[in-house]
Amino acid sequence: MHCNELFERQLRQLHDDGNYRVFRNIERKAGAFPTAKLHHKEGPDDITVWCSNDYLGMGQNPKTLAAMKAALEECGAGAGGTRNISGTNKYHVDLEKELADLHQKEDALLFTSGYVSNWAALSTIASRIDNCIVFSDEKNHASMIEGIRHSRANYVIFKHNDLEDLRNKLADVDPNHPKLIAFESVYSMDGDISHIREICDLADEFNAMTYLDEVHAVGLYGPRGGGIAERDGLMDRVTIIEGTLGKAYGVMGGYITSTRVICDFVRSFASGFIFTTALPPAIAAGAKASIMHLKASNLEREMQRDRVAQLRAALDKRGIPHLLNESHIVPVMVGDAKKCKYLSDILLHQYGVYVQPINYPTVAVGTERLRFTPSPLHSSTDIEHLADALSELWAQCALSRAVA
Ligand code: PLP
Repeated sequence: MHCNELFERQLRQLHDDGNYRVFRNIERKAGAFPTAKLHHKEGPDDITVWCSNDYLGMGQNPKTLAAMKAALEECGAGAGGTRNISGTNKYHVDLEKELADLHQKEDALLFTSGYVSNWAALSTIASRIDNCIVFSDEKNHASMIEGIRHSRANYVIFKHNDLEDLRNKLADVDPNHPKLIAFESVYSMDGDISHIREICDLADEFNAMTYLDEVHAVGLYGPRGGGIAERDGLMDRVTIIEGTLGKAYGVMGGYITSTRVICDFVRSFASGFIFTTALPPAIAAGAKASIMHLKASNLEREMQRDRVAQLRAALDKRGIPHLLNESHIVPVMVGDAKKCKYLSDILLHQYGVYVQPINYPTVAVGTERLRFTPSPLHSSTDIEHLADALSELWAQCALSRAVA
């Protein structure tokens, strides 16, 4: 068999199932977010991005851009090395201090992405603690799952957000084994929020550590943008808080914050921290400026909440079914991979609305959806245009409407 045939067969299967991912080529326009130029032979030149994780438009915030430009001029393009070998720059150290302060922890550790921070921290902790058992929510992100698997530690998957199942599973294991409960605060596909307080109570009762991914919450919740744990006054109860600088902070990078000794432990043993080039100083400078801005300003968070409520009301008015949750994520349920992809294509090419279809394996078969993320910078006109477009397509495709 020709070697290409091995690959082509599996790619064909993805196409046949409607799960082949198309990576849209867009050009974001600083100063005009959420508008972007579409690089494609069909469709309008300018589109409105409705699925960005630059949740607050901080990727074009003047303070973020100014800090990045200044650091670029000062330090040049790259970090010039791994963190251990000449790559630690004052901007990384300053950013780590800023992150420790954000989460009111002793220390923080920076990684090249949120994915790497989860993978590196979870795999290092779980592999290096003898007999560690990891309790992992069944809907945890791929980066957490990969980190846990890579550690080769024993792990137990508990039902999503199910405290009783977690309790039973904690009670089932040898009380002398070290335990780590790994979970998220805002689950990005359904937009639901976990029971942090109750999970911390269980952790206390069963003597477990907690690892909380706040990737879809940092910058967005809490009086200083410290996430759901800050909003609910629980930051001191979580052992390790993990976050990203690539979503609400609009830049790039990931981190953990915890005690000095846990950060030192991960810094000293994690290959994903040690053996890779450090983030460019300009990235670290931009992320710090963005965090500082969102520590002091509630305006973006308030405007975003307002836009989310507006979009939900516009969808309700037209009977477009969307998943209710407490967060900023608005999943419009389609329930079929091919229809989801079709709707996304028509929205883009005929209406200038860009939203990626979310299909298997990101979500379960039968729960395919369009995931909208309203930002402070989407206007009322953008919202009405989107809701009207969806309403027309719902009629065309004979999709069922929500009953008011
Ligand atoms: N954790 C969760 C829950 C995520 O959804 C993502 C990315 O989407 C990540 C971690 C990875 O973060 P990053 O995009 O910074 O690599």
